[in-house]
Amino acid sequence: MNERQNKLVCNADKHRELILEAEKWLWKHPQTGYTEWDAHNYLVEKYKELGYEPVLAGKIPGFGDIPGFYVDVDTGKEGPVLAVFGELDALDIANHPESVNGMTHCCGHHGQSAALLGLAAALKEPDALDGLCGKIRLIAVPAEEMIQLAFREDLRKQGVISYMGGKVEFMHRGILDGVDIAMMVHGTSAGEGEPYDFSCGYGNNGCMAKTIRYKGKSSHAGGAPHLGINAQYAAMLGLQACNDLRETFQEKDTIRFHPIMMGVNCAVNIIPDEMKIESYVRGRTIEAMKRENRKVNRALTGAALAMGAGVELTDRPGYSPEVHDKAFMELVQKCCEDLVGPERVKFDYNEWSTGSSDFGDITCVMPGVQFNAAGITGTLHGINFCVDSPERLCVNSVKAQLFVIDALLANDAVSAKKIIADYKPEYPSIAAYFEAINDLILDKDAVVYDEDGNATVDFQNN
Ligand SMILES: [Zn+2]
Ligand SMILES: [Zn+2]
Repeated sequence: MNERQNKLVCNADKHRELILEAEKWLWKHPQTGYTEWDAHNYLVEKYKELGYEPVLAGKIPGFGDIPGFYVDVDTGKEGPVLAVFGELDALDIANHPESVNGMTHCCGHHGQSAALLGLAAALKEPDALDGLCGKIRLIAVPAEEMIQLAFREDLRKQGVISYMGGKVEFMHRGILDGVDIAMMVHGTSAGEGEPYDFSCGYGNNGCMAKTIRYKGKSSHAGGAPHLGINAQYAAMLGLQACNDLRETFQEKDTIRFHPIMMGVNCAVNIIPDEMKIESYVRGRTIEAMKRENRKVNRALTGAALAMGAGVELTDRPGYSPEVHDKAFMELVQKCCEDLVGPERVKFDYNEWSTGSSDFGDITCVMPGVQFNAAGITGTLHGINFCVDSPERLCVNSVKAQLFVIDALLANDAVSAKKIIADYKPEYPSIAAYFEAINDLILDKDAVVYDEDGNATVDFQNN
């Protein structure tokens, strides 16, 4: 660590209590995507106490009210704009021993929000911006987890949101306009024998969100099943067909399809007339997701036809594939190594994860890195998830991010400018990106029968 980095560590340590207290409070107040008002209200107050005036995403004219906000830290000198995210949302996981109203922060997003608050505090220290140029936009963002699709679809129909993912929605609202480069830190559970404080892979899959609704006809399950059409059997057949398609998915595309039956609107003595399924199709590129999703929709449609049932297919853009800029990764790696030593840092420039994040949508249009801070035990999204070291998860994360901000924006931001100039984004602009993801939207009543029982089948947009 050099003298400047020592100073930054001090700036973070001054706010240790604030960070650790926020981590505890947020852990105890988990709420799922687009309902994170407790965290929102708590954090807005804390940012105000630090002297910030948060810009509320829900109060931007022309858009619906949702949680989340941003603040700008202006160095006063012309330069690149760096976005730093902290996610607000928890998961639906009622059987976690510490769940509150059926929800728990078992992806560790509360730790990100606590760290972002610490970053905001450290950046208010008198010497924090010495030698830097440009701006830092700290963004508290809702709804990273792609869950409760029916609820979000309702919000969409009511005009409250336009997109399922919080970062996508924030882009839609213009909050990323003028931003040049982005980073965030996610929590990770370092496995036994892997004593790393920081890690990072090259990227991860994108996903699209699917709602599938099989439509049958109810009748007496014992006395008159011949008068009914069993929507549950149609759904099971559809999933069987999708499973049989799996061997046609190619390894290079890292496709994942993981449907879950959301229940039937019926009782044991009634032939079920409805079965809903939610699923994603995930993949390494948007093109691969589109291609394989078409096959999945064809299989789901064929099953409905086989049973004389109907099926409604609803596809929505989920998250875009996340690809980290390698030069930016190298800079982040160096910062982490400066902080904790190279033996406690593991950056893998080839590692590809098959999970998804809406940070991928950010990396579609600008260079970005999402790296991981340790401090968690158990499994992300699991009932044994536990923050065993808020110090590593949150305070360390603040320090590493301060180092990165400095490395990017010091010396007339020469490092940031080079990364930004060299980056070849998937889409040349936010508008072009939206055009591409809007192309994934599909609403189809895929099998329509005429009076003679002939069917018209239509399961794709183009
Ligand atoms: Zn998660
Ligand atoms: Zn997460």
